[in-house]
Amino acid sequence: MADAPMLEALRKLSEEVSSAENLDQALRLIVRRVREVIGADACSVYLIDPATTERVLMATEGLRADAVGRVRLRPDEGLVGLVCSRAEPVNVEDAPGHPAYRYFPETGEEAFHGFLGVPIIHQGRTLGALVVQQKERRRFTEDEETLLITLAAQLAAAIAHAEAVTGFDNLAMGRHHDRPFPGVSGAPGVAVGTAVVVYPPFDLAAVPDRTVDDTEAEVRRFLAAVEQVRQDIDRLEARFDRDLPQADRALFEAYRLMLDSDSIVGRTIARIDLGQWAPAALRDTVEEHSRAFRLMDDPYLRERVEDMRDLGRRLLERLEAQPGTPVHFPEAAVLVGDSLGPAAFIDLPLERVRALVSRQGSGSSHAAILARALGIPAVMGVSDLPLAKVEGKTLVVDGYEGRVFVDPSPAVREQFQRLSDEEHELRVELEPLRDLPAVTRDGHRIALFANAGLLSELEPIRDNGADGIGLYRTEFPFMMRDRFPGEGEQTELYRRILERCAPAPVTLRTLDIGGDKSLPYFPIHEDNPFLGWRGLRVCLDHPEIFMVQIRAMVRANAGLGNLHILLPMVTTPAEVDEALHLIGRAHRELQEETGEELPLPRIGAMIEVPSAVSSAAAIARRVDFLSIGTNDLVQYLLAVDRNNHRVAKLYDALHPAVIEAIERVLHAGARYGKPVSVCGEMASDPAAALLLVGLGLDTLSVNAIDIPRIKWVVRNLEYRQARELVDAVRDLEEAHQIRHHLECEIERLGLGGLIRAGK
Ligand code: PEP
Ligand code: MG
Repeated sequence: MADAPMLEALRKLSEEVSSAENLDQALRLIVRRVREVIGADACSVYLIDPATTERVLMATEGLRADAVGRVRLRPDEGLVGLVCSRAEPVNVEDAPGHPAYRYFPETGEEAFHGFLGVPIIHQGRTLGALVVQQKERRRFTEDEETLLITLAAQLAAAIAHAEAVTGFDNLAMGRHHDRPFPGVSGAPGVAVGTAVVVYPPFDLAAVPDRTVDDTEAEVRRFLAAVEQVRQDIDRLEARFDRDLPQADRALFEAYRLMLDSDSIVGRTIARIDLGQWAPAALRDTVEEHSRAFRLMDDPYLRERVEDMRDLGRRLLERLEAQPGTPVHFPEAAVLVGDSLGPAAFIDLPLERVRALVSRQGSGSSHAAILARALGIPAVMGVSDLPLAKVEGKTLVVDGYEGRVFVDPSPAVREQFQRLSDEEHELRVELEPLRDLPAVTRDGHRIALFANAGLLSELEPIRDNGADGIGLYRTEFPFMMRDRFPGEGEQTELYRRILERCAPAPVTLRTLDIGGDKSLPYFPIHEDNPFLGWRGLRVCLDHPEIFMVQIRAMVRANAGLGNLHILLPMVTTPAEVDEALHLIGRAHRELQEETGEELPLPRIGAMIEVPSAVSSAAAIARRVDFLSIGTNDLVQYLLAVDRNNHRVAKLYDALHPAVIEAIERVLHAGARYGKPVSVCGEMASDPAAALLLVGLGLDTLSVNAIDIPRIKWVVRNLEYRQARELVDAVRDLEEAHQIRHHLECEIERLGLGGLIRAGK
């Protein structure tokens, strides 16, 4: 069955469903097309109403249309109930003869015998069932069954999306209220604010809805863009005039016709007149035409979809290049985006940002780490959030549970406002700890350092009660520029940080780009970026970039001596040798150039790749200290992409494999007398910090905002208890068991409030 026409039909159907305006339209399309493809007498979709768990007939082609919305089955009722509860296909020759069959007179179903139902499952959640029925008594063939399973699997994401966008309210299903959009926790905390959508430039599909008051000015802005594009096309045509065959030249004519036609310009202006801003009005017009073209069977016309989109992109580029409507940035903003990389935050008034919401990514993405550094909640992987529709809406962001409410009821808002107030109180309560050392009740001193760098110059360095900076991610200042910063520029930046903290140590990590951190002026495109050209690998392949950075660090350290240099993504001892050689050379050259005695920085390696865990002793022998980067170590040990929300459930730093790896690194460090610290997010989690102390880690580097919390844990703990805890969890097999055990211990210590706040 997997022949080309079938795949083409599937592709077309998915595309149509994805671009449907609402769930109702999407489902009607599905039942019509699926009935055709399978050649069945009836096709229906049932969805589970989350409020009642009933299975509701949502669309049908073949059963009586007025049964839609009225047929509701309890979870254990009927063959549909069986399909949903078993999450398996049910294929029966004579449905009325089946013991689970339940008859609804309003459907006219008595005429049907053959029944095949398959579950619709999206990300492990059963949404409902897709059913085909035949009048004759017959079992559907295996081919038909696999085809229906394939269709249901392909359509599940589109259905989930349409369902989320539309909401059940509009579909007469009733009772649905305050249903949040699910995601995964990115950073703890709750916040209420107004959505501001951050979207990439020149991407028509990503443009959000936004209202304008001065529609006349907006129309003028749009018409100016139209005129500019007309001139661009004339110029392009003139340039290619002689080289282009007649057929290709026709394209320019087609563009001109589209620009002159009322269907593009007129329709867009009509939308602006209704209060929509020009980019979104254009988006809807282009989408409307594309949809109409796509549905045509004529291949020539279908190709015009691309021309239409290209023209839309050109118009958008011209619109975005103009000084547009000033974006109103609310006092309490929630940043919302498809994938909020650290670069998305540049130029934003961060002091007004109350929370982050990203459709992609997970709790260990750099955007989430950044949110934690800012001390604001984040929810990641909210894949069903309709970005185009949320601008300006009130959002409640629940960073503990990983969910987002759009325009919720006053009751929900109040509930979260209370939580937010409690959090604030906890912070105030912890404030006096700032100037006290992190020492256990029986006198064991833990050095608590701060992670920094993601916010670059914006961060309050050293007023958070830290013993120094344990990880300064230098890549962020690199991201904020449009070319590599020069040696002088870098020296100045590093000097400021070293001076501000001296004599406390500052660990500057060398450039760690690649993965989810890219530089606009040095793009790296790879299928598997986290397994690719990242961190030290890039630097060793580009010694000119590495040497400039090292020279800047060493120069900044002159007369201070508190610099530590940390090498990210070390995979083999040979890479350390190569890096040490370059660092040694930079230091020597600088001494020769300046004639000054410059302090030699202490050099450490990050242990964040499984091979580095195995080679930790060989690496420890070569360097002055080891720093365990649990964010990456967890991703590589558990084979869970730290940015992929689909597998976020598996990402857990308390997995026994991670604990075992940490113990191995501690042994390796002890063997050569080299200190070991942890600088990944794991150390910012109170339960995990308890375990790390028990494992023998004396140095933790955590987000500045989390320092008081972790200090509180340390100061309420006896070192002996922490050691015993390690023995107690050693035989537990699953991360969740270990977490449960540690959280009970935290409760026992009377620090329960931290569990919520620390997750
Ligand atoms: C880590 O991997 O644990 C780490 C601290 O570095 P980053 O999160 O920047 O990769
Ligand atoms: Mg890392």
